[in-house]
Amino acid sequence: MDALRRIEYAGRNCYQSHHKITDTSAPRFVRALIKRGHLSPLEFADMTVELITSRDVMAELTRHRLASFCIESQRYVNLSGEISFIRPLFYHEGDKATDFWLNCMKDAEDSYHFLQECGLLPQDARKILPNSTAVRIVMKANLREWRHVFSLRTSPAAYPEMQV
Ligand SMILES: Cc1cc2nc3c(=O)[nH]c(=O)nc-3n(C[C@H](O)[C@H](O)[C@H](O)COP(=O)(O)OP(=O)(O)OC[C@H]3O[C@@H](n4cnc5c(N)ncnc54)[C@H](O)[C@@H]3O)c2cc1C
Repeated sequence: MDALRRIEYAGRNCYQSHHKITDTSAPRFVRALIKRGHLSPLEFADMTVELITSRDVMAELTRHRLASFCIESQRYVNLSGEISFIRPLFYHEGDKATDFWLNCMKDAEDSYHFLQECGLLPQDARKILPNSTAVRIVMKANLREWRHVFSLRTSPAAYPEMQV
């Protein structure tokens, strides 16, 4: 509601209709803006999310140029112990492809630690990490941009792991 009220306040400036603001007027006003294609007021509210995803999903998300990102660095963060990987959508216990994927992740983890033991820094040892490696992201965008992101990334044409 806070975000909707902020958008309503900005949008009503265009029509000089602030006197029409009530406790409940914001959702209807914002819906009307969207219906009309008057979208710039949506830029007056933003949303920040924190998520953990795979590196391949991250690569797609960060193509959105109007969003801001802070991303866990593989250059500076030393992945000691067990490395986190995101299960792919094809993951099914006991399945041949899944067993192969699990082995690859174990190999990647072992190889990373081996390179560390050889004295390499995280920025060099990361070379062998796969797309499934987990990454923490803080992402911020205004609500107009979020609508755009959701519309592209939840469409049937989008990468399935991005859609979910
Ligand atoms: C199904 C799918 C398949 C894709 N496949 C590929 C692929 O094979 N290879 C690949 O490289 N990318 C691919 N992409 C990424 C795609 O090309 C875009 O880079 C990404 O979706 C970001 O979208 P965007 O540029 O519309 O949005 P944002 O960067 O979020 O920008 C939002 C809007 O701002 C405007 N805008 C931003 N910057 C500019 C600018 N410089 N000039 C003019 N207008 C601007 C545009 O209207 C844009 O839609 C794919 C995306 C999808 C959804």
